[in-house]
Amino acid sequence: MSLYQAPLPAEFTALSEQETRERILRARAQLGDDLVILGHHYQRDEIIEFADYRGDSYKLCKDANRHPDAKFIVFCGVHFMAESADILTPDSMLVILPNLAAGCSMADMANQFQVKSCWKQLGQITDTSRIVPVTYINSAANLKAFVGEHGGTVCTSTNAPSAVQWALSQGDKVLFFPDQHLGRNTGVKLGFDPTEDMALWDPFVPLGGNSVEKIQKSKFLLWKGHCSVHKRFTLEQIEQARAQNPLVRILVHPECPLEVVQASDLNGSTEFIIKTVEASEPGSAWAIGTEINLVRRLARENPDKSIDCLDPQICPCSTMYRIHPSFLCWVLEELAEGRPMNVIKVPEAIAAPARKALDQMLRV
Ligand code: SF4
Repeated sequence: MSLYQAPLPAEFTALSEQETRERILRARAQLGDDLVILGHHYQRDEIIEFADYRGDSYKLCKDANRHPDAKFIVFCGVHFMAESADILTPDSMLVILPNLAAGCSMADMANQFQVKSCWKQLGQITDTSRIVPVTYINSAANLKAFVGEHGGTVCTSTNAPSAVQWALSQGDKVLFFPDQHLGRNTGVKLGFDPTEDMALWDPFVPLGGNSVEKIQKSKFLLWKGHCSVHKRFTLEQIEQARAQNPLVRILVHPECPLEVVQASDLNGSTEFIIKTVEASEPGSAWAIGTEINLVRRLARENPDKSIDCLDPQICPCSTMYRIHPSFLCWVLEELAEGRPMNVIKVPEAIAAPARKALDQMLRV
């Protein structure tokens, strides 16, 4: 969810990069062990340098709990991540998102009203007690709550196959949202047919644009959502990369379209991508289909390998990019003065069922 963010006080926008950096360091030193800063891999380097932990959304949720005595978590990521951190950490800890406008366009492609309407329509043509909802961690807290209330689970790009396998052991079908690509790639990985066994649910048309028969015979109902960064990767880019260097290995994230994942050499979560590149032999060449800040950092941290983005028209995640150092400086200085700004607090009525779905994810 992207929220309204009031403009920064002019004092912060007028600072030079160096002044901003020095003030961040000063405020941070003042806050000491009361503060933990989390930085998602897709954040720019000028933010990552201040992160106590860097990781993908799943890892950062776990890192958030490593300092139970800390008072503040400043989450340099997007809104749904800060919500998950709030749900999974003690009430005594305040979770702060430096810029409230840092949402996720994929998470915004499914909302509570649409998912409830989908469920109601499904209930008119099939037995919803046999459908298990699975939401990607990239979703709003109230959707995680919906999933918790209906016996489902949250999944991540790392554990999606086990989460879906678990869901299919609990019922006959899976309603997977909001990312159709992760859902489809996971189903195919588990041996299902993307045409025969899967239906795409478009929230803007009745029955998601499907016939009753198609829904009844599908194992997977895939929400029509996508990541605007990962859907940019194409087969043509893979062909080009291989034409330029026949030895290059193509490594992509499973939020990419099926044909891209199938044509790649390897696919997996952000953490998988990092570990694979780090463990590869010196001199190896990689064309990577994921967010550019991460690809550039991997290239810098692995100078003995050739690492490029698969998309020559590099595209950063525009919402992650909204966490500018000036915003970090502002929230830290306000915190140091005893004025927490941009606190993300999920009401307990939503947090409790959402926690159930997140706990199921951790069990899977
Ligand atoms: S990279 Fe895609 S899924 Fe991740 S935060 Fe950006 S828009 Fe959302």
